[in-house]
Amino acid sequence: MCMSVAVGLLAARLGRAAEVAARRGVDLLVVTPGADLRYLLDSPSSSHERLTCLLLGADGHNAPPALVVPTLEAPGWADIPLEALGVEVITWNDEDDPYLLVSDLAGGPRRVAVADSMPAAHVLGLRDALPEAVQTLAGGVLAQLRMRKDASEVAELRSAGAAIDRVHARMAEFLRPGRTEAAVGADIAEAIVAEGHTSAAFVIVGSGPNGASPHHKLSDRVIAPGDLVVIDIGGPLASGYHSDCTRTYAVGAQPAASVRDAYEVLREAQEAAFRSITPGVTAEEVDAAARGIVDKGGFGARFLHRTGHGIGLDVHEDPYIVGGNPLRLEPGMTFSVEPGIYLEGDWGARIEDIVVVTDAGAERLNNRPRELVVL
Ligand code: ZN
Ligand code: ZN
Ligand code: ZN
Repeated sequence: MCMSVAVGLLAARLGRAAEVAARRGVDLLVVTPGADLRYLLDSPSSSHERLTCLLLGADGHNAPPALVVPTLEAPGWADIPLEALGVEVITWNDEDDPYLLVSDLAGGPRRVAVADSMPAAHVLGLRDALPEAVQTLAGGVLAQLRMRKDASEVAELRSAGAAIDRVHARMAEFLRPGRTEAAVGADIAEAIVAEGHTSAAFVIVGSGPNGASPHHKLSDRVIAPGDLVVIDIGGPLASGYHSDCTRTYAVGAQPAASVRDAYEVLREAQEAAFRSITPGVTAEEVDAAARGIVDKGGFGARFLHRTGHGIGLDVHEDPYIVGGNPLRLEPGMTFSVEPGIYLEGDWGARIEDIVVVTDAGAERLNNRPRELVVL
């Protein structure tokens, strides 16, 4: 079911992580289950109160790679090519202290970088077991790798984009006046799975005034003719790579001319941001391209959030397309372009595509119409 990542690719990722860690003055990476561990070992495991972690020494630090795992969970790692990757498996039983086990294996590190998503209980357990070591976050190290997608990752994100486009293409089946947001959302969640995702990670149906809350989810509000409805949906494929796409629909009737004009400003802003993307342009310049058009249209104060976020094994990851981020875009970076306009108490609209930076510009991975569609 799950196409696995080639061993050679995983080995290269582990090698690069050790290299970047050394460059950043980190001695040891401690990576608990989550997107970072999925990236390094292709393991879909999840974190809980029993400690599971990958110990990866930086180049030059004397600690061989090891996976610390509860004995009862070791069988779950049988499919991961740990031996081929040179990662030793160290199991522990419920009566053992796993943090002391880590400190025995750690090689006396001065700086330990822990996964950003590591549960606080593990962070503090490690701090007590390694009192001489300074703790930092591993996310910055791993983001250097994860934000530059290889061809196989882009291919996964492209099929995720096509899958969520198929759900938007079916929107007339679900979104009708007289139905509640919750009923529409339940149908959409089912379609997200039917079209190839393993689950619906999020379903936003923001109708009428609820559309003005960017991260509104679902409510019992009954959708009325003439409402604008923000539909922001996505989920992971079996590979772990995510889709995330927003379209705003008018339901039952054309909205007022003033709303249509504002929507047109938004559409132009989204287009301008997309067209600004090419290698060497900074993340903040892409944000400014969208924001400039929304400002000029008179809605600057109504564009409440950054223009976009990176996407991959996490729905939100580096690079963030936000004012103040001087990061220069490179081919293989993937992120959302999703300006919005939100009029509190009245209506909201957002248009969101995932894009990949190419050698010459950018490619959209979502391709449903961006004009205001009336259902
Ligand atoms: Zn969002
Ligand atoms: Zn998004
Ligand atoms: Zn979204």
